Formats: sequence, structure tokens, C-alpha cells
Amino acid sequence: MEQTGIVYECIRCGARVPSEELDLRGGEIKCIICGYRILKKIKPPVVKRVKAK
Ligand SMILES: [Zn+2]
Repeated sequence: MEQTGIVYECIRCGARVPSEELDLRGGEIKCIICGYRILKKIKPPVVKRVKAK
């Protein structure tokens, strides 16, 4: 299960919608803010560890 962490961004209002949120709402790809149906998948923020000197 590597599905967690996927985030969609509404191309209309820019809201970021986690895939878990879509699952809770029936699995439909749809903006939870404005209802627009075109969302682009964005990469989840990668937390890079920087070595402290
Ligand atoms: Zn939207």
C-alpha cells in the first residue's frame, strides 16, 4: 500500500486535496473546495534531511 501521501491540486482554485480525502468522499476525483473535476497530481513534499555540520 503506497497510496498514502498522494495529493491532488485543483487547477481551478488551487486547493490541495489528499487522496485519502477523495476516498472518504467516494473515490471521485473532484475538488473538495469548489467541486471542479480536473485535478493534477502533485508530488507529496519530500522531506530531505540535511546533515548538520
Ligand atoms: Zn477547486
